[in-house]
Amino acid sequence: MSIDFEVPPEAKAIRERVRQWVHDECIPAENRLIAGEDYKTVLNVLRVKARAQGLWCPFIPKEHGGMGLGPLANALVQMELGESYLGALSMNTQGPDDATMLTLLAHGTEFQKEKFLKPLLNGEKRICYSMTEKAAGADATGMQTRAVKDGNENYILNGEKWFSSAASVADIALVMAKTDPDAPRHQQFSTFIVELPNPGYRIVRDIETMAAEGPLSHILGGGHSEIEIKDLVVPAENLLGGEGNGFNMGQHRLAYGRLRHGMHNVAMAQRALDMAVGHVTSRSTFGKPLHERQGVQFMLAECASQLYIARLMLLHIAYKAEKGLDLRQENGIAKVYLAHMVHHVVDTAIQLHGALGYSTDTPLARWYTHIRSQRLVDGPDEVHRWTTGRNVIKAYQQFGTTASAAGGDLL
Ligand SMILES: Cc1cc2nc3c(=O)[nH]c(=O)nc-3n(C[C@H](O)[C@H](O)[C@H](O)COP(=O)(O)OP(=O)(O)OC[C@H]3O[C@@H](n4cnc5c(N)ncnc54)[C@H](O)[C@@H]3O)c2cc1C
Repeated sequence: MSIDFEVPPEAKAIRERVRQWVHDECIPAENRLIAGEDYKTVLNVLRVKARAQGLWCPFIPKEHGGMGLGPLANALVQMELGESYLGALSMNTQGPDDATMLTLLAHGTEFQKEKFLKPLLNGEKRICYSMTEKAAGADATGMQTRAVKDGNENYILNGEKWFSSAASVADIALVMAKTDPDAPRHQQFSTFIVELPNPGYRIVRDIETMAAEGPLSHILGGGHSEIEIKDLVVPAENLLGGEGNGFNMGQHRLAYGRLRHGMHNVAMAQRALDMAVGHVTSRSTFGKPLHERQGVQFMLAECASQLYIARLMLLHIAYKAEKGLDLRQENGIAKVYLAHMVHHVVDTAIQLHGALGYSTDTPLARWYTHIRSQRLVDGPDEVHRWTTGRNVIKAYQQFGTTASAAGGDLL
């Protein structure tokens, strides 16, 4: 029996619909925003249209109003959505909301699902996730924000957070805080649902970053905020998933988010490579078209190879997810690879565009400064490589070969 790479017809069909959706609706809507149309109106029109066509919350189960797509179909859809700034937003599957919705779905009480999840699924509200602090990021167990129970009714939180993406446009925040400093390291933290705006959760500033601002940056909002948490009162009924479970829930949430970034990277890299080829096929230097130069062809070949590897990685991980197999090793490898892949492809596209690539007349320069963060967010490269490397050693010690930690179960 051979490996079957055939994508099921239903998944192919939905990918095709989403590809068309992005090209026919989202990319033209980007241009309308740049021309000055009101963001909320444009997005609302897109969302009403998308939802009416059944293009809504791709991986959320149907009984909750989503499309109920499995991992493979969702991966294919997300790989299309990344081509436009408005792709994921139009179908209410933008980060950080989507992974956070999954957390609420998996761990919320009936009350929490009704009050907080429903408006998120309806696209009426947005949510952010506040875990990282100046004190601790890669090793989140170093976070200092404390939550202390005040009678049976409330928790009182004090501390700080930073780099909470989209906090300035969010209506709800999930905030992680230490509830029991004496518990084992990974059981010291809990997650709280906080309604915004809230006097105890003060946005000090949206942190200026290296990401170049484009015509849509402010319109789309959602910078990365620094937050002061001072005597923040959270009703006990807003504790999510029970005391001491915050850390493990956070990791569960990030596992999905890491994959989604990578899926969007494929779409962005594909668009960058198309732009690069568009440029080199229409320009000549020293009396010869650029695309006839072998040096240029080698550059394109390297990008194509990396995109191919990226797609195969994502499809293999989707396959493992469909079968309920352990995908942690592949997830960590792919998270790092996909972040480097998109960086390389966009960088090559800039190079081949010459000064035009460095200018802001194409989206390439802006993408380049945005995607640098991908080697840091959701765990920096080194932390993933650390775990991956440890698994490689473990596999050798257990089986006498590293194959099982290096995709060897494909064979
Ligand atoms: C654009 C952006 C958006 C973000 N959005 C959110 C969000 O919405 N919510 C949220 O809670 N957080 C968010 N973050 C924070 C992000 O998760 C952290 O930046 C990340 O986990 C790294 O933590 P740190 O910045 O504190 O780096 P540190 O923990 O200080 O680490 C610094 C560097 O040390 C190295 N390093 C760390 N540990 C090891 C190790 N074990 N071995 C070898 N080297 C190591 C790595 O190179 C790492 O980059 C965001 C960050 C960015 C840049």
